[in-house]
Amino acid sequence: MSIIALSNKLPQLGRHYQEPNILLSVIVPFYNEEAVLLQCHQRLIKVLDEIGQQCEIVYVDDGSNDASWPLVSQLKSQHHQIQTLSLSRNFGKEAAMTAGLKASQGRAVVLIDADLQDPPELILQMLESWKQGFDVVDMQRRVRHGEGWFKRKSAALFYKLMSYLSDIPIPENVGDFRLLDRRVVDEINALPEKTRFMKGLFAWPGFKRTCLQFDRDPRLAGETKWNFLKLLDLAFEGVSSFSIKPLRIATVAGVMTSLCALAMLIVILVKTLMFGEAVAGYPSLITVILFLGSVQLLSIGLLGEYIGRLFIEAKQRPVYLLMEHNKQQKTKQVEGELSCQ
Ligand code: UDP
Ligand code: MG
Repeated sequence: MSIIALSNKLPQLGRHYQEPNILLSVIVPFYNEEAVLLQCHQRLIKVLDEIGQQCEIVYVDDGSNDASWPLVSQLKSQHHQIQTLSLSRNFGKEAAMTAGLKASQGRAVVLIDADLQDPPELILQMLESWKQGFDVVDMQRRVRHGEGWFKRKSAALFYKLMSYLSDIPIPENVGDFRLLDRRVVDEINALPEKTRFMKGLFAWPGFKRTCLQFDRDPRLAGETKWNFLKLLDLAFEGVSSFSIKPLRIATVAGVMTSLCALAMLIVILVKTLMFGEAVAGYPSLITVILFLGSVQLLSIGLLGEYIGRLFIEAKQRPVYLLMEHNKQQKTKQVEGELSCQ
């Protein structure tokens, strides 16, 4: 590693730096994953053993109602620290990742799903890139095994839409599986917003980034927690929290329709005055009314989406509440702020 790259990784850069001994934190948010957690833990421990330095795993239970929480509470490791956080209810993956990032202490932080769709073994490669001086290692899905046609197509459409609408580049086909340097994590933790679209927040700080490609495995067991409506909600959240372009598009649509109306008016006037043609009444009228009505409704709906987000932000409620937080030995108190965000 070059001297510049190495100096980038020095502890003093981290704003809330807590535990310089911990090289890597692996954050695992989960919701009802009793079927996979044990295998996930075993594979993670194997990888962390290979790294051979002090690492920690941060398990975040997003309000599971199966045996997931007792299961992770029992997991103990001789070589690595384990933190277990339990949210007071199901707040959603974005909130669970936020909680994990706040609790993490490593100089590098990896986020990974519990269902082993993201192979833990790739953490070694990610760490290598980090050691070369990159602050963010995005993991781009080359192949998405085990996902249906609809999910793949809708995800591709979403990423295309986001890259067109968003002012900051949000990499396509990069999920939440990635490595972040401590200083990036600190910047994300310091962001006050409550609507946390993490794919956007991970991209927002910038810094030195690289992208590795990987083949996404099918889920080991259990079922996906995302249904169509949840994905649609996430897509709306992404668009409305990272772009105001839709509002601009509504304005442009307003200008375009008024220009069309003007052109139509001129055509009708010319036809009637110069050629004496009778105006086709009902069909043209109803078409115009319906068209204008739908443009207006769409624009009001769009405005509503943004006002709704403002409403949520204005209430200033915490992103999540912690019911339990178990840290193992050696871990220092995290500035007493972890009881809630
Ligand atoms: N997850 C979570 N809270 C939720 C939904 C999901 O913590 O409300 C976790 C889930 O347990 C898994 C990860 O987020 O570890 C990814 O979820 P899933 O596999 O269902 O998503 P997919 O891979 O199908 O997009
Ligand atoms: Mg999954």
